[in-house]
Amino acid sequence: MKMPETIRTYCPYCKTHTKQKIKVVRKGKESAFSWGARQHRRKLKGYIGKLAGKKTVKKRGKSQKVTLECTICKKKTERIIGTRTAKPLELTKL
Ligand SMILES: [Zn+2]
Repeated sequence: MKMPETIRTYCPYCKTHTKQKIKVVRKGKESAFSWGARQHRRKLKGYIGKLAGKKTVKKRGKSQKVTLECTICKKKTERIIGTRTAKPLELTKL
């Protein structure tokens, strides 16, 4: 999906439509020793019977999250663009 670098949209702080810069949010590297990661590894190890925590259904792509920065008040808001897609979001210059 393609999107322009700046759009004119509602800012909840200014309470009007303003020009806003778009930035794509990307997930950072996950910590290998976080509580959730340790718990997941423990679950996959198993003890008796079925393995819990193993994915059976693979979901297609991810929905793209975007931050909108208002050019007037410089505050940031988040927005999700579109639905699940494997293609990354492209920012195009206008
Ligand atoms: Zn604003």
